[in-house]
Amino acid sequence: MRHLIVAEQVFDGERVIEGGAVLVEGDRIAAVGRQADLGQPEGARVHRTPTLLPGLIDAHVHLAFSGVPGREAMLAEAMDQPYPEVALRAAERARDSLCHGITALRDMAAPGGAVIDLARAVDQGDLVGPRILACGRGLTVTGGHMDAPLPDHVSMEDARAPCDGADGFRKGVRTEARRGAGFIKINSCVSLHTRPGTWWRPEMTPDEIAAACDEAHAQDMIVAAHTSGGPPLTATVANGVDCVEHAHWIDDDCIELMAARGTFLVPTLLVNERTFEVPLAEQGLTHIPPWSEAARQAKWVSLAKARLAGIRVGAGTDAGFMMPHATMFWREVALLAEGGYTAAEALTAATAVNADILGIEAGRLAPGRLADMVMVDGDPLADLSLLGDATRMAVWKGGAEVARGGALTTVWPQEMAT
Ligand SMILES: [Zn+2]
Repeated sequence: MRHLIVAEQVFDGERVIEGGAVLVEGDRIAAVGRQADLGQPEGARVHRTPTLLPGLIDAHVHLAFSGVPGREAMLAEAMDQPYPEVALRAAERARDSLCHGITALRDMAAPGGAVIDLARAVDQGDLVGPRILACGRGLTVTGGHMDAPLPDHVSMEDARAPCDGADGFRKGVRTEARRGAGFIKINSCVSLHTRPGTWWRPEMTPDEIAAACDEAHAQDMIVAAHTSGGPPLTATVANGVDCVEHAHWIDDDCIELMAARGTFLVPTLLVNERTFEVPLAEQGLTHIPPWSEAARQAKWVSLAKARLAGIRVGAGTDAGFMMPHATMFWREVALLAEGGYTAAEALTAATAVNADILGIEAGRLAPGRLADMVMVDGDPLADLSLLGDATRMAVWKGGAEVARGGALTTVWPQEMAT
């Protein structure tokens, strides 16, 4: 089946083509250009839309979690549900994300193999959903960021992956790989709430980081690291991590190193803002932690430095933690724009850069790429909040419409009204 999508503007992942058109053949894009140049290809069904852009990609989510604020509530949620139920709820959140134009996402740790299995089910065509790259469990040192203490009677064996020593992390990587992980998540450097001025603390040793990266790379997987900042972040980058998450405090030497190595940054700006938006009682807090205030200031400084240095910045929300799925992604994009990026650059982070982080042939409207696309009834480059309004979207994945107006569709029912 051939489709010609004619748009008042086509955003191809980097630039805008006014009066543009995209020709889709099968699951791929065959041609992109000005409508006048593409003409009327034979046998192509014509669709019209104000704006066409690549499918959105959220580079940092936790599908297994709802986004209920507060650590205790989140832990209770993780402990109270059998894994099949976790997977079913994750599937529902994934479908909702797809309806909001998110055609791919990266899951940054879930109990057991719940989201790995979900990713496989979508891949095999058993379920409608976005393309999912899942890490399985996040590797962490014993007692570390993703292995917080729990009462003795609570066993979360399969939900956690504590590893120690280089061999331990190597085994951790192999264990998640055996399960079908698409990439590896480590927790190398964490927040330290008790020492103002030094808000970070290393958890993994340099040889543990290097071993995890070496093993993952040998298995063609990238490594993403939960980080906070300072020298332990620099050590994370120096020892081979491909993508750093959060990274509120980035030293100048680390910026240089990231630029030289091509390390990706996913700054997750919104999740920090949520601390200031969500009522304190809901978060189980009595006051805003000084760490959150400090991180709030530091993240803009780090983002500005990253932008100047040409570091490839992706957009990721941390949805499932402090915020629900699907509806909040546009705000992360808008925060990048607040941080000095143009709307088009912020959208590049949300599409082209994120596709490179996930290692998928989407994120750009270019010949040969997967035809994952969003038609928007309006101009999201002028108003990024339109990307949060599923009722004004038609979503395509792999050359076919999958959602429209906030609901899933399996076939193209009618031409979009212009
Ligand atoms: Zn996260």
